[in-house]
Amino acid sequence: MKPPRFQYEAPLTLDEALSRMAELGDGAKVIAGGQSLMPAMNMRLAAPEVLVDLRRLEALRGIRELPDGGIEAGALTTHATFERSELLQRRMPLIPAVMRFVAHPQIRNRGTIGGSLAHADPAAEWQAVCIALEATIVVASSQGRRRIKAVDFTQDVYATDLQAGELIVAIEFPAWPSTRRWGFEEVSRRMGDFAMTGVICTLDVDAGGRCTQARCVVFAATACPVVVDAAPGLLVGRVVNDTAIGAVADAARDAVQPMSDHHASAEYRKELVHALTSRVLRKALSS
Ligand SMILES: Cc1cc2nc3c(=O)[nH]c(=O)nc-3n(C[C@H](O)[C@H](O)[C@H](O)COP(=O)(O)OP(=O)(O)OC[C@H]3O[C@@H](n4cnc5c(N)ncnc54)[C@H](O)[C@@H]3O)c2cc1C
Repeated sequence: MKPPRFQYEAPLTLDEALSRMAELGDGAKVIAGGQSLMPAMNMRLAAPEVLVDLRRLEALRGIRELPDGGIEAGALTTHATFERSELLQRRMPLIPAVMRFVAHPQIRNRGTIGGSLAHADPAAEWQAVCIALEATIVVASSQGRRRIKAVDFTQDVYATDLQAGELIVAIEFPAWPSTRRWGFEEVSRRMGDFAMTGVICTLDVDAGGRCTQARCVVFAATACPVVVDAAPGLLVGRVVNDTAIGAVADAARDAVQPMSDHHASAEYRKELVHALTSRVLRKALSS
């Protein structure tokens, strides 16, 4: 299928892009990697009058370390760049590991972190990664900038806190402590397909083997990723054992009200949440 007719613009600077977005209003859409928007346009699910291509905005590409040990990534950084980043292999190994599960190499070569977060597919790995790592999404408009916690950014299926005329410009990840361990698991029909359900956890474990921080995030089961609020209470301050892992898996299963669709029933997804939570916690402990 072919998209409906549209006017195409490719600004050279962020300021130019932001002022064009302000002038054009609802009739315009930005395009980054095009891996979600072009299929939607081809299927006539989206029909912007003007397409504002961000790909010339080199300032929005790349991954750099911040002075406090955190990481800042430009919104146009591709999934493949994260996957291959030596800096992240050393500093935040969870990110490259998860990227291998995002679609296929061709899509990872073009798709961007900003496009994925703005698109807000419930099964997208990026939303869950950003929430698990307590990232901040930096957005800009012709009026200025604002910073949004990842956990507040996604509001529903394909719905975010982005306001008209706003673009995601960067994502900031807080420093990764040396005591950090992590686990990631997802289930999809084939490698590269969207996940039916996935779980990410981070655990900080001190020299005595005691957990000092715990965060578990379930994604692709519900409209938005779910933080398992009970996890810190069940894990922090203790040496994590099978009983504690079982309790967190139970809590995770109770915390989600999954959707049923043609990929999986709600009941199956609940069982996946339980099984995957146990597995990611064990993986984290052995990492
Ligand atoms: C076959 C297939 C399989 C896939 N499998 C997976 C998968 O397993 N996991 C996964 O996470 N994703 C998957 N994807 C989606 C892929 O990751 C996309 O790259 C991503 O969702 C969108 O990124 P993009 O840069 O291509 O965005 P685009 O398609 O260019 O844009 C998507 C939306 O975001 C908006 N947008 C883009 N950039 C910005 C910005 N900086 N600020 C504000 N709004 C912006 C656009 O206006 C549009 O509404 C798959 C895609 C395909 C085609």
